[in-house]
Amino acid sequence: MRLVLLGPPGAGKGTQARMLESKLDAPQVASGDLLRTAVKNRTALGVEAQRYMDKGALVPDELVLKLIEERLNQPDARVGFILDGFPRNVPQAETLARVLDGYGKKLDKVVALMVPDAEIVKRISGRRTCRNCGAMYHLIYDPPRNPGVCNECRGELYQREDDAEETVRMRLKVYAESTRPLLEHYGRLGLLAEIDGIGATGEIERRILRVLGRDGAAAKGGS
Ligand code: AMP
Repeated sequence: MRLVLLGPPGAGKGTQARMLESKLDAPQVASGDLLRTAVKNRTALGVEAQRYMDKGALVPDELVLKLIEERLNQPDARVGFILDGFPRNVPQAETLARVLDGYGKKLDKVVALMVPDAEIVKRISGRRTCRNCGAMYHLIYDPPRNPGVCNECRGELYQREDDAEETVRMRLKVYAESTRPLLEHYGRLGLLAEIDGIGATGEIERRILRVLGRDGAAAKGGS
């Protein structure tokens, strides 16, 4: 399965991608995670990317494409993937199509999680991320068992620089200008399914599996 999850920041793409990995037997490929790893490792690319990320702006295409192409060339992602956060604009989508075409493959589906801006601001400003394993929590909707500590690995939870309210508003503006046109792009290609991104995570997962024609996988997984 070659799937793209679209939607504004905080729509739940990361949560859903992680939940779907085992059911679709395809790895999550999150451009934001790849970039944050580069930033953490202080690679030249990471240092350059951080200037844009901290402001909530898009990182230049050539930097992101380098990371994504490397990742999509790894054996597990050659078989399938769940793209989360990529593509972010029409040129990135066109490059993705060319890369896939290069090894005779195509996207199977693009699922857009639709969530209104006011809900996004509420969700992201309460979001906390594990510095160690990347797991995500919400101070109100999904608090960790012990404040500030990851349930999975006991890593430290922090608020991403770009999750502060003002930066979230900037990211929503960037989404509206650069990423939303992808809905029309993929709609025209007949690949798009828009689903309501409000509700319990298990319910949203079921909606996604339904549009993928994988309702059986939802029953098997039991969530
Ligand atoms: P995310 O974790 O997907 O919300 O991404 C965090 C930040 O990384 C974004 O606000 C951008 O600065 C950068 N980023 C992630 N994916 C991309 C992409 N496909 N193109 C450009 N910038 C990206």
